[in-house]
Amino acid sequence: MYKTINFAKHSSIKIGPLVEVFVIEDKSYPKDTYILGQCNNVLIGPSHPPLMVLGKNYDYIKIENNLLCVGAATPGGKLLSFCKKHDIRHFELLPKLPGNIGGMIKMNAGLKEYEIFNYLHSLETENGIFLKKDIPHGYRWTDFKGLVFEARFEIHNGFNQEHLEIFKKMRDNQPLDPSAGSCFKNPEGDSAGRLIEAVGLKGYQVGGMAFSSKHANFLVNLAEGSFDEALSLIQLAQQKVFDKFGVWLENEVIIVDERYKGENSPLLKN
Ligand SMILES: Cc1cc2nc3c(=O)[nH]c(=O)nc-3n(C[C@H](O)[C@H](O)[C@H](O)COP(=O)(O)OP(=O)(O)OC[C@H]3O[C@@H](n4cnc5c(N)ncnc54)[C@H](O)[C@@H]3O)c2cc1C
Repeated sequence: MYKTINFAKHSSIKIGPLVEVFVIEDKSYPKDTYILGQCNNVLIGPSHPPLMVLGKNYDYIKIENNLLCVGAATPGGKLLSFCKKHDIRHFELLPKLPGNIGGMIKMNAGLKEYEIFNYLHSLETENGIFLKKDIPHGYRWTDFKGLVFEARFEIHNGFNQEHLEIFKKMRDNQPLDPSAGSCFKNPEGDSAGRLIEAVGLKGYQVGGMAFSSKHANFLVNLAEGSFDEALSLIQLAQQKVFDKFGVWLENEVIIVDERYKGENSPLLKN
């Protein structure tokens, strides 16, 4: 029921403690426990809540009622291979987009106007089934309550190899150092990377953490960086960009630490 995960190794940003994590194999799990996917978009602090992940029973792909039904623990790469094999289109954005379908759905992950919600039909969640039209969502946000068990997508035939190559190329500028992907969401009409660079923080390093010199909006772990170093850089960029441009950079990376006050305030409670 529980497994030990070392988040300093397991998370993409290589930060976090060693934790006993609950593994959900049926639909029962402890209350007030935070669900994780593959940890490609999270920064886990020392004061994290209890944590859980979906087990192997939620790693599957099947076609039912002309819908592509995908368990929330299914890795994006597996879905891409399935779609290629079965000649299904609109999932060509998935290469090099690390994560499970549950995490991608929660984040509405994507690239430019291509988002995982585009061809979503419905979600099976702990609170029942929701049609896409009833789920508020937008650029890197969704608003639904509770855990996702399964995502159901429309099926359109014609896997597009050309699109696949284009999506792969679009990621050529992403740094290879450990990160959680983009640190901040792009403010409307602007880019977080440009703003970070404009306040002189591209390549700026605190301890083992830095805003990448390749792409300023990637907070990278260069040498055993810590949660506090990561957070101090996030706070610094938010403050500097706000002081210079009056724009508050909203986190894309999710900070999992109970002292953190939330999206619009970078401060930690005592
Ligand atoms: C190198 C790199 C490149 C990246 N490039 C992109 C990119 O181009 N576009 C993009 O959008 N993202 C990108 N990301 C971020 C990341 O890939 C996505 O956000 C992905 O969706 C995270 O999936 P995950 O399984 O790792 O989720 P996690 O990071 O584990 O969790 C993310 C959120 O989803 C929630 N969650 C996870 N599973 C469930 C579930 N079953 N039910 C309800 N909530 C759940 C968690 O509580 C958390 O809030 C990148 C990350 C890296 C490291």
